[in-house]
Amino acid sequence: MPVLDDIAIDLDFDAVRRRLHLKRDEDIHSARQVVESAQPLIEPRVLYQIAYIDEKLAEEVIIGGLRFSSKVLRKNLDQTGRVFPFVVTIGEKFGEKLETTADLLEKYYLDTIGNVALNQVRKALNDHIKATYALKKTAFMAPGSLPNWPIEQQKPLFGLLGDVQSSIGVRLTDSFLMLPAKSVSGIYFPTETSFFSCQLCPRERCESRKAKYNAKLAEEYGIKK
Ligand code: SF4
Repeated sequence: MPVLDDIAIDLDFDAVRRRLHLKRDEDIHSARQVVESAQPLIEPRVLYQIAYIDEKLAEEVIIGGLRFSSKVLRKNLDQTGRVFPFVVTIGEKFGEKLETTADLLEKYYLDTIGNVALNQVRKALNDHIKATYALKKTAFMAPGSLPNWPIEQQKPLFGLLGDVQSSIGVRLTDSFLMLPAKSVSGIYFPTETSFFSCQLCPRERCESRKAKYNAKLAEEYGIKK
């Protein structure tokens, strides 16, 4: 099962600054200092797998013998027989720093920095998958990002990836959260049209939103309330 542990991440300070909405010079300066101290703590590791779809049911899909229940995932996998389940982390050191930092402003900066770094690592994986398997376009879904694909679905996802803890140091808690905290899991799939779970998520004021909510699309996926 492929493990990528040589991804170099040069933290994108402009992305951090934009997410923190920093305008004043002194705030930008202090955020830059936190970024510089956090950079050496980031140790990206990626585990992924090529998995094949055994069966497509009405609102479920069987992948590698494991059952995934989600109307949205099922629709997204309509035209493919092959997917790429993954777990990405920026490592234990950053997770510990985030957990033990008492200063609330620094913790907020670190949390944002962690999200930006994690996003950069996930994009590096996406580039790797596209280049390695000659895919023009991909999209991904993460368990827990939509009520239609709940967090409990981490269990079969981790089931596809074997011993994730030994491979890259990420474990699932009893409530299906991942440790270290700045880790993300999901399934990449080939697609012809762009897809972001955010298009189906009506949540307001989300700093991590990647695309506008699209009520018509939510209706097409059959999940509009
Ligand atoms: S809008 Fe925010 S909460 Fe909703 S799917 Fe996107 S990132 Fe997740």
